[in-house]
Order: sequence, then structure tokens, then C-alpha cells
Amino acid sequence: MGGFPWVADGLRAGPAWIEGEAFPILGAGPPPAHTAMSQIIVSVSELNHQYREGERTRTVLNGVTLELHRGERLALLGRSGSGKSTLLNLLGGIDTPHAGRIRIDGTDITRLDERARTLFRRRHIGFIYQFYNLIPTLTVAENVRLPLELNHEDGTAAAHKTLSMLTRVGLADRGDAYPDRLSGGEQQRVAIARALVHEPLLILADEPTGNLDAENGQQVLQLLDRLTRDRGGALVLVTHSRAVAQVADRMLSLVNGRLSEDGAELTW
Ligand code: ADP
Ligand code: MG
Repeated sequence: MGGFPWVADGLRAGPAWIEGEAFPILGAGPPPAHTAMSQIIVSVSELNHQYREGERTRTVLNGVTLELHRGERLALLGRSGSGKSTLLNLLGGIDTPHAGRIRIDGTDITRLDERARTLFRRRHIGFIYQFYNLIPTLTVAENVRLPLELNHEDGTAAAHKTLSMLTRVGLADRGDAYPDRLSGGEQQRVAIARALVHEPLLILADEPTGNLDAENGQQVLQLLDRLTRDRGGALVLVTHSRAVAQVADRMLSLVNGRLSEDGAELTW
């Protein structure tokens, strides 16, 4: 397999996204041996966040406390409007909370100014959205490569990483296509490649299967499961679906602005 640099980092031969355990044993099996599960990578304490609605303020998060270990995968459930996307945006440093701390790999991102948060996010966070959010004027390969370029990684190494990720998501032959030529499932696989190409510590996926049919949803989920395991990044997976949540090591629900162990109070 000489000439295929991505084989060297442990990838099995063949289309990685289709290989491996058959659905639905997602989430089964131990974490990869190299994953130090004991290391806390995300530490959130007493997070509060409000939005203004005219004269009134609406409290969305009210005392969110959370710890995530390196390589851990957390499913976050909650009704529509319960604050799941708000929490992801705070964890990813897109927004800042009104109160509370968010420490990621030792850095309190709530204390960074906007520019420093942006730089932190580019280096350490990978986002996956329900509607893919690919840049329509860039090719598939250019979309995947973008996080590397933003981190000033270019040249041959960046090209190899990009092709490696596209291979892992089964789209090595679509690099020159524009996103609108791809199906929804394919676009989401591109978005996964883009979210992981720079090997972020933390992957934030906001209802990543919410716009896909069951079959494509399962493929995307299987891929997310496999690749986050391989790479050892922590995953926060927002979903409405308990079936989707099975991919995670742990499930929490956002209820009345707080996180709770998935429990009986959930009625949807
Ligand atoms: P979820 O992702 O769980 O559906 P969100 O985090 O998107 O919930 O929203 C939580 C609540 O905050 C909702 O009531 C929503 O209408 C409100 N909200 C979200 N973003 C804003 C915003 N930028 N301005 C005002 N209200 C917002
Ligand atoms: Mg949402």
C-alpha cells in the first residue's frame, strides 16, 4: 500500500466508512487503547445563559455543570427549545455565557476575547450541523481542507490529510465536485471529514442525522462513531432520537435549563 500515507496511521484497507461492525451495534466495545479516559478534557461549571425578548429575559441555561473525559462520547437529549444548540455554541466558543466557566483542555474559554476564542475554536473544535453548512462555492476537497488552511497548514501534508479524510468517509473520488452535486448523506459525510480533519479535541454535532433518511442517518452515525473512536476526540452529540443516542457512552438530558441523567421526567 505504498504511496497511501493514511494507511500508516492505522486505517484498514478498503472504504473505511463501510467496513467494520454492522449496524446497529454502534457504541459497543471498549474505547481505543490509546484513549486516556481518565483525563478530563471539558469541564463546565454553573453555566447560565439568557436571551433578551423585548423587555424580558428568558433563561435558557440555568446551572449547567458537566465533565467530559478525553475520547468520551456524550449524547445530549432535550425537547426542541430546551437549549441544546445554545449549549453547543457555548462549548464551541461561538457565544459566551452570562455566567459560569467552560474549561477545555485547561483553557477557560469564557475568559478569552473573541479573537482568541476564534483561534481556539479553529484549532480544537469540530462542528457538525444538521444542514451540513458546507461552503457552496468551494469544492468538496476545499471544504474539507478549510480548517487546515485556517490553521496555516498547507502544502503536501494538508493535501494528504484532506485525501485521507475523504477516503475515510468514502468520498475520495468526489473531491472535485461541488457540494450541490452530492446527496444529503454525502454532504454530511463531507461535513464530518471537515470537522475531524484537524484532529480536534472536541467534536460538537448538532442533530447530525436530523435531515437524513434512516439509511443515510445510520451511515453517518456509524461513521461518526468509528472516526471519533479512531481519533480519540470527545464528542457531544445532540439528538432527539434515543436510537441515535445509543452511539454514546453516556446520555444526558437538558431539562429546565439543567443537565440531568436521562430520566423518567422525560415525556416526549
Ligand atoms: P434547542 O437546540 O434545544 O432546540 P436552542 O438552544 O436553539 O434550543 O434554543 C433555546 C431557547 O432559546 C429557545 O426558546 C429559543 O427560541 C431561544 N433562542 C435561541 N437562540 C436565540 C437568540 N439568538 N435570541 C433569542 N432567543 C434565542
Ligand atoms: Mg437546536
